[in-house]
Amino acid sequence: MNILIINSGSSSIKYQLLEMPSTQVICLGMIERIGSKEAILTFKSQDYKIERICEIHNHKTGLERITDLLLDNEKGVLKSTDDIEAIGHRVVHGGSTYTKTTLINEEVKNKIKTLSPLAPLHNPANLEGILMAEEIFDTAKQFVVFDTAFHGTIPVKAKKYAIPNELYNKGIQAYGFHGTSHKYVSEKANAFLDKKNTKLISIHLGNGCSITAIKDGKSIDHSMGFAPSNGLVMGTRSGDIDHAIIFYMVNTLGYSLGEVNELLNKESGMLALTGFNDLRDIESEASKGNASCILALEMNAYRIKKYIGAYIAAMNGVDAIIFTAGIGENSSLMRQLVCKDMDYFNIHLDDAKNDLRSSTFREVNSIDSKIKILVIPTNEELEIAKQVFDLLS
Ligand code: ADP
Repeated sequence: MNILIINSGSSSIKYQLLEMPSTQVICLGMIERIGSKEAILTFKSQDYKIERICEIHNHKTGLERITDLLLDNEKGVLKSTDDIEAIGHRVVHGGSTYTKTTLINEEVKNKIKTLSPLAPLHNPANLEGILMAEEIFDTAKQFVVFDTAFHGTIPVKAKKYAIPNELYNKGIQAYGFHGTSHKYVSEKANAFLDKKNTKLISIHLGNGCSITAIKDGKSIDHSMGFAPSNGLVMGTRSGDIDHAIIFYMVNTLGYSLGEVNELLNKESGMLALTGFNDLRDIESEASKGNASCILALEMNAYRIKKYIGAYIAAMNGVDAIIFTAGIGENSSLMRQLVCKDMDYFNIHLDDAKNDLRSSTFREVNSIDSKIKILVIPTNEELEIAKQVFDLLS
């Protein structure tokens, strides 16, 4: 059975076509830098590897380009759209309603739309992907896997805000995101540690960044909150800020609420600090001595360190720290900045292992480190395909 996975990020779409249950990947690829004139479109099948730089305005155009490639007479992998039996979509915010893989219907789509203000960079793009896929692949069953689902185990003391109860009853609480990724890499880490009870800190660093405390396979705390905006410094999102700043900007500086929302989600984070939101550009500038890029990298790592400390306290220990996603897997510099001066916790990086480039699971701690430091490539697409296949069978 062919299952297509569509994983729309804030400025990217990852896709993977898998044959299930063999998990054989028929083709995969991604579009990065959506919204720019120099978007990067990649496609990889057994016979072809394509990389194109082209203008891709939005997620809709992105998905059209991907479909063209899948159906291409010469390089494509499908004869007809009917060759796909199911599509699995990653959707960021499912609120407290959806904690499991779900067949898409009108009600589900309405809920995704209703939750859009809470995940403005993602839910609209995710919904657009679903609507486009329904149009193009009209015979395929469409499923959704929510990023919030894995965090359903966070206890009330960690997910409730200290605000009047009536707001909690109206659904204002911390939900948690990147759940599919944290679930996938933590299961890999648990298999590697081969231990009954484990304490893990999973650090997902992509365009969006989050960190999760995982005890015995269950998420018990997470850096993002009500929406995917809290916590770590991200590509264009601020992460933690004092909410009084919002009132000061509106009441004293004259910003509208809409402007503040736009500014905190799309014009903050690494972009605001450096002028770039792609870490590759920031690292390259920093290596040439660009002071704002150097400071931004330090701020980013410092925020991650604080969460590591907090989660070690929350779990009364840690067995392994996991780095994953675009930055976590590829930036040896970011891993080095985060793990520097952590000897109090007995966390020691092996610089040579850390600098080795690889796209596979690896252990990068030194042999005298009590805590394992693992780089684990995430595979949200495979995790989603498994969940969709399980539901279909
Ligand atoms: P998304 O959250 O959209 O899924 P990804 O997980 O693909 O994002 O991560 C995107 C981030 O990974 C970008 O900031 C990009 O710069 C960074 N990245 C990708 N490759 C590298 C690399 N070799 N070195 C440093 N950063 C990288």
